[in-house]
Amino acid sequence: CGIVGYIGPREAYPIIIEGLKRLEYRGYDSAGIALFDGTNLGVCKTKGKVADLENKFNSHTSKSGHIGIGHTRWATHGVPNDINSHPHYSNSGNLVIIHNGIIENYDSLKKELISRGYTFQSDTDTEVLVNLIEDVKKKENVKLGQAVQIALNQVIGAYAIAVFDKTQPKEIVIARLGSPLAIGVGKNEFFIASDASPFIEYTQNAIYLEDEEMAIIRLHKDIKVRKIKDDSLVAPYVQKLQM
Ligand code: GLU
Repeated sequence: CGIVGYIGPREAYPIIIEGLKRLEYRGYDSAGIALFDGTNLGVCKTKGKVADLENKFNSHTSKSGHIGIGHTRWATHGVPNDINSHPHYSNSGNLVIIHNGIIENYDSLKKELISRGYTFQSDTDTEVLVNLIEDVKKKENVKLGQAVQIALNQVIGAYAIAVFDKTQPKEIVIARLGSPLAIGVGKNEFFIASDASPFIEYTQNAIYLEDEEMAIIRLHKDIKVRKIKDDSLVAPYVQKLQM
């Protein structure tokens, strides 16, 4: 299972597809990508290989967009099929998430969300998390980063996640607990991946998130890394990768 993301001036699609191929060694049963083209937030996903995803894109999905996130899934909650594949939208359609790991208390969170009117398309624990983030965002009237932080404090489990909100389209929020996540820091562009292999040809500057850390990756801004538990800022350590 793996995660790849891009935000910057390049077309995100080829970077994410190539990146997902480099993460194939981690094992997976499904793959998917969300791309934001400035107006539309499109998702294309499928059971099967990254090559199957490319075929599906070729037949009926726009590939343009300078912001995107991609995922390879190793199913834990819900069988491997197209609907359970990531990315998952929130109910409003404004948020998308990709997730590696397990939300252990997804069942009680899901019941609570259903009682508040939320509906679910998939059988995944992940779709519960994206709607929990949406619910917090609305209830607390906060921005995406803060909503992710509050939501993750209600979650028991393990995760590497990347979340995008089309109402705040210049940023991607990521977090990790138990699954690896690296940020490639380029010039006015950022890469996200489970390891550095998807971005090493573009930048040798990498920040590896530690467990219980989250980061807000925003165009034309410095990366903000915080502790999920208490929201305190962490000074990110930028490591030089060897080619
Ligand atoms: N638990 C999630 C699911 O089953 C994520 C699995 C993964 O790590 O890819 O969809």
